[in-house]
Amino acid sequence: MTTAQPRTDLDVQPTPLALLLLGREADPTSERGVDCPGDLPSPSDPDLVARARAAKEKLGDKVFVLGHHYQRDEVIQFADVTGDSFKLARDAAARPEAEYIVFCGVHFMAESADILTSDEQKVVLPDLAAGCSMADMATAEQVAECWDVLSEAGVADQVVPVAYMNSSADIKAFTGRHGGTICTSSNAKRALEWAFDQGQDPATTKILFLPDQHLGRNTAVRDLGMSLEDCVVYNPHKPNGGLTAEQLRDARMILWRGHCSVHGRFSLESVEDVRARVPGVNVLVHPECRHEVVAAADLVGSTEYIIKTLEAAPRGSKWAIGTELNLVRRLANRFAAEDKEIVFLDRTVCFCSTMNRIDLPHLVWTLESLAEGNLVNRIEVDEETEDFAKLALERMLALP
Ligand code: SF4
Repeated sequence: MTTAQPRTDLDVQPTPLALLLLGREADPTSERGVDCPGDLPSPSDPDLVARARAAKEKLGDKVFVLGHHYQRDEVIQFADVTGDSFKLARDAAARPEAEYIVFCGVHFMAESADILTSDEQKVVLPDLAAGCSMADMATAEQVAECWDVLSEAGVADQVVPVAYMNSSADIKAFTGRHGGTICTSSNAKRALEWAFDQGQDPATTKILFLPDQHLGRNTAVRDLGMSLEDCVVYNPHKPNGGLTAEQLRDARMILWRGHCSVHGRFSLESVEDVRARVPGVNVLVHPECRHEVVAAADLVGSTEYIIKTLEAAPRGSKWAIGTELNLVRRLANRFAAEDKEIVFLDRTVCFCSTMNRIDLPHLVWTLESLAEGNLVNRIEVDEETEDFAKLALERMLALP
């Protein structure tokens, strides 16, 4: 088992973690939300950029800095490579000479990097409070309980788990142990097709999709032509997931009741509003958005797909993008010179608050500590969890 996962049903009721996400209080049962163990530089220190640069130069090839697309500009400027979580983990594995992998992202991403890199490489998360609210919505205990519910309903042997990359190492290991695979937002369709083929009878095979109900539903309905009635939502906060045995037997997709707090904010009104505000706009959204948003959009795809679509877009085209705001702002600035108008899909600000925990003071503190020989904020997955999680990841890599 990896470190204890704090419970976060942000859509249900306020929890201590909701305060953690806002940078207040601490969760004593978790390594996340603890105070920084060292002396953080002041955010107003005018030398932060020079200090980060100096520490990085001193470390040389020993350090490799990964920057997720949703990170702040002040952090991204120090990234050796940028990308989504899976690409970054693979990039780190391809740099075995780097002893320290500094992951500017969130906790589950650092875990995945630790799973995919060698034992000699040490993965570091600059702020241990940088969790992911979606990943935290499925804990190992809750998922084990769900499996018991499926067994009691007599359907467990027909169920193949598919876990989104945005899940803890424990959930990835559960998936590996039960014959399932991991997926990303780019290959979710292929992962579902593969999973349906694993059962003795594809017509009765079911998928338990963890932890993002929206990606699971959107892929099943949009890409595989299933109906909304084929999907049921398992709520871990209700007895038996809030489902009857008959509902479980009839379902083809059992969707975990989790969601991304950033992409879940976009609504059908956001789409209608931007179409009224920006005539001729193309609406391009991430598949973590709600089904009605995805159904109303012109195009749907992962962050990599969003970037490639904008790169290929003709001059003068107009785009409303439904994903995290740091990325949208960077893309808007990048393509302004090519006369491509890029706006954020919603009128309200929509940063990923946990991604934003990684700021320049934390990065400076991390790099300077490493340069002085102090290994800080290491993320390490235990061997058994790693073995089963890797099994699930390897099944993903082998997807046709
Ligand atoms: S954007 Fe959503 S899924 Fe990604 S780290 Fe933030 S909360 Fe998690």
